[in-house]
Amino acid sequence: MPELPEVETVINSLRPFLINQEIISVNVKVKNLVAYPEVDVFIDELTNKKIIALARRGKYILIKLNDNKTLIVHLRMTGKLLIKESDQELDKHTHIIMKLESGKELRFNNIRKFGRLYLIDNGHPEQAGGLAKLGPEPLSEDFTEKDFKKLFKGRHGVIKSLLMNQKFIAGLGNIYADEILYRAGIDPERKADKISEQEQVELYHIMREILRAGIKFGGTSFSDYVNGLGEKGSFQEELLVYQQSGQACERCSEEIIKKKVGGRSSYYCPGCQK
Ligand SMILES: [Zn+2]
Repeated sequence: MPELPEVETVINSLRPFLINQEIISVNVKVKNLVAYPEVDVFIDELTNKKIIALARRGKYILIKLNDNKTLIVHLRMTGKLLIKESDQELDKHTHIIMKLESGKELRFNNIRKFGRLYLIDNGHPEQAGGLAKLGPEPLSEDFTEKDFKKLFKGRHGVIKSLLMNQKFIAGLGNIYADEILYRAGIDPERKADKISEQEQVELYHIMREILRAGIKFGGTSFSDYVNGLGEKGSFQEELLVYQQSGQACERCSEEIIKKKVGGRSSYYCPGCQK
């Protein structure tokens, strides 16, 4: 699933093609991808709106429109938001097509159909699923070490699940959580209340560093993920632990293993993650 760096990369790649563009027409071929409002209202209210800004919150793409509305897109497992020329052939997994003033099209492509689109009123994030319940943005300038440490108060769950909990902190998923814990030398199954203050501080800095690196490399492309122009990222080449089972740990030479943590496949080094 695209995580914060992938979603950020998609947004950055789309921005030059979308800013100041009017949406001329909207074609929704798979209705259940539109989660809010009703499809007819969604199409009606989106048509002839102008795109004024793009932003990200957690793993959500926010396409801000004139008229106090925001189009929200959650890519989930295999969703792609792509810029295409209108004469480019439609993929069989293209389910929503928005024609732009420029003649190009913004297409939502989704093999597994788990992605979701919402057209919300500004100031009403509760209209878009979990958007209103997201925890802090890890890369936000005003999100400090102290703020991160505060999140641990009263938390007893395993650290890997906590990092992936969108209400705890927004934007992390399986890949980046594994990489962060590896680099911090923390066992993914360690309980949150057994993470020392010193380790919380280290986690805060490693988390920000890894997410920034993920963005710099254009995200991690294993199978589906591409940016808005269909280009793959290269952070998969920088991974030290995720999907590296059987390999020797770079730090201690022990074999990296795969195990289930909170129902998710997790990669870690039993030699140096304690
Ligand atoms: Zn190791």
